[in-house]
Parts: sequence; structure tokens; C-alpha cells
Amino acid sequence: MSVAAAPARLVDHFQHGLAAPICLTWELTYACNLACVHCLSSSGRRDPRELTTAQCKAVIDELERMQVFYVNIGGGEPTVRPDFWEIVDYAVAHHVGVKFSTNGVRITRDVAARLAGSDYIDVQISLDGATAEINDAVRGTGSYATAVRAMEHLADAGFAGFKLSVVVTRHNAGQLDAFKALADRYGAQLRLTRLRPSGRGADVWDELHPTAAQQRELYDWLVAHGEQVLTGDSFFHLSAYGQALPGLNLCGAGRVVCLIDPVGDVYACPFAIHDSFLAGNVREPGGFERVWRSSELFTELRAPQSGGACASCAHFDSCRGGCMAAKFFTGLPLDGPDPECVQGYGADALLARDDAGVPKPSGDHSHSRAAAGKPPRHGEPGRGGPGPVPVVIGRAPVSAAPVSACQQDPLAGFAPAATVGR
Ligand code: SF4
Ligand code: SF4
Repeated sequence: MSVAAAPARLVDHFQHGLAAPICLTWELTYACNLACVHCLSSSGRRDPRELTTAQCKAVIDELERMQVFYVNIGGGEPTVRPDFWEIVDYAVAHHVGVKFSTNGVRITRDVAARLAGSDYIDVQISLDGATAEINDAVRGTGSYATAVRAMEHLADAGFAGFKLSVVVTRHNAGQLDAFKALADRYGAQLRLTRLRPSGRGADVWDELHPTAAQQRELYDWLVAHGEQVLTGDSFFHLSAYGQALPGLNLCGAGRVVCLIDPVGDVYACPFAIHDSFLAGNVREPGGFERVWRSSELFTELRAPQSGGACASCAHFDSCRGGCMAAKFFTGLPLDGPDPECVQGYGADALLARDDAGVPKPSGDHSHSRAAAGKPPRHGEPGRGGPGPVPVVIGRAPVSAAPVSACQQDPLAGFAPAATVGR
């Protein structure tokens, strides 16, 4: 690895990839107590091949050596792993801060108090409706109450600035002010993310993704409130309406973003769980570092990309054709417009697509398929093996230790460092 000269723009620097990911998502388990209809990883039941505690610690050792300052831990519901707190403690003790996403099921008063005592752990509570009616229709009966109770515990414990994370859908797009008020009530920060057609989300995307009119309203709302909410790379395709929105205006897949899934497979992005975006496995020789720095897929993603059909669009510099995963899982060409292209080209392309050619997400650990005795949906290489197994819930105490904050903004806290292989 060599260090490249500083480019004129940060975005140019990112396009060639970094020596370590800024936003590394690590899904610790497919186990989950809920069965959200849009779950990006089709979670529900644990996979028997999931990384062991020792293997998780080895990954953390590697992240420490690579100077990955923090990870976004998710799942499934990561807190149902019996060794969850042990892994969190190990990470922060090895200078890898943790932000974990949870539906709140394990955030008791005691846990909230322990979390509030750490500067190196951040918490993100998922909620997809500002009312129980809207939320529970997507996340399941009682999930609104569980999330609100967790937020109450965190607020009572004095945990300021935890995150309230919302996937914007057709049903909650009119509740943005209510979400903001809810976050403010508990001293949390609102995070809005895009519904991607990944995992079970592929099955409901057509009916749940915001309408064109709602996208415009969302854009206007973000223009007015964007500095107060976190959006990561969710809505840069909306910048084509006019004004650039805060965040990263390019797809960071394999460049600054990647996913380690529960069995150690490394994908270019948490929303691209498909063999086409599988770069390797942390258990292979060279581990995560080799995958990140020299896998064929990531090298390819870091090469200059053609703008394709979007290159001639006046908004290409801000929109860049939108989200790779959204295009892939709606069956649109990767070098064409985003399915939610604000110019309407994506909607036209969707009408013209061949539905038979729409790729299926890899893996399915849904409760329903397992309960019905169905095998995993996939069958693709690396996804075979024994079927999912029941969830075992347990916990150990968490201790205070070091966090940084990606806050789902790939730019947050970033200081340009070495690029990969340049
Ligand atoms: S594929 Fe989409 S979600 Fe993934 S990094 Fe690119 S823009 Fe973000
Ligand atoms: S045509 Fe392509 S670049 Fe232009 S707004 Fe649509 S998705 Fe973005």
C-alpha cells in the first residue's frame, strides 16, 4: 500500500477506496425476535455457521490493526447473541468503538445505565412509525411499545444523543415532523434511511417505497431540516431536485462501505447481499484485511466507473445514478438510472423491465420460511449448509469503554488517510 497525494475533492479520494472502511457494518447474527417485513437481511433464525466468540474477537483484533475506529453492529437483533456484551466489551477495549442497532428488546433500565456510562458505545433504536399503528404494521405487534420503552430507559439514564432510526416508507413519509418530535422528546438524534429492495425488502418494495410526490416532500423536508438529522448515503439521489443534501454523494460500496455478515462473508454494502457483491470471507487466509484491500470485487468497484445512461444527465454530478443495490434488486442495469430517479427515468425503466430477470437476494433466515419447513431461498455458493436454528437469548453485563461516530454519515469524523493500492 502506498499513500496517494491528496486529491482536490474528498469524493474523488473516496472513489479509489481507503486503507480501511469508514462505515463498516457487522451483522453479528441472523437471529431476531421480530420479523419486520422489510428486513434487509431476511433475518429471523440464527445460522449455525455464525462466527464464534473467538472468531469475532479475531476479527476485532484485525480491525484494531487496520485502525478501524468503530463498527456499526447489527443483525438480526444483535443483543440476542449470548456473547453480545462480551464482544462489545472486547471491541471497545481494543479501541474499536461500537454503535449497535437494536429494536430495544434488551435495553432494560440496567443496560441503559451501563450504556450511558460509556463514551465509546452508541445505540440506535429502530422505529418505522411515529405511531404504534404505522410502526407495528411493518415491524410487528408490540414493537412500537418495546422501542419507546427502550428510549425511555436511555433518556432516564441520561444517555443523550442516541439515535432514533427510521426507514422512510409510503406509510410513514407523512410523519417526519412527528419522528423529529419523538426524537427530541427523548434527547435522541433522528436518522432517516432509505427503503432498499434488499432482503425481505425486495418483496415489499413496490408497495412500500415512497411515491414520487412523497420523495419530493422528503427532499423539501431534508432541505429544511437536513442539518439536524442523519441520513448517511440514503438520499443523495434526491439531490437531483436541485440543492445538494448533506452526506456522501456517491455510492461508497466497496470503497468506504462494506458489510461483514454473521457467517463472516464480506459484501460490498449491507444492502447488497448477493453473490454478485460477495468479496470474500474473514475466515479465509489474509482475513478481512485481504478482502478489503485486494479482493477482485472491491478492486473492480474502485476502478473508474462509467456514468452509462446517466452520464448525460444534468444532475449526474450530485446523483451519480443513485444506489447500486436499489438498481440491482429492482432488476435495472447498474449503469442506468436509480429506480427512484427524480427525473422519472427509473419509473420508466421499471415498467420496461423483464420481471423474470430480477435477482433474488441471497439467504433467507425468516421465521416464516423455517417455520413452514422451507429451505433457505437461495442455494447459492457459500450460502448452503445446514438450515437456521432457533434463537437463544442471553446476556452479560456491558462495561464502559471507548466510541466514535459514523452516525451513518460516511463523512463524520473522517480525516483523509491512505488510499488502497495507489
Ligand atoms: S449500494 Fe446503495 S446503499 Fe450500498 S453503498 Fe451504494 S448507495 Fe449506499
Ligand atoms: S437520470 Fe440518472 S443521474 Fe439523472 S437524476 Fe436520474 S438517476 Fe440521477
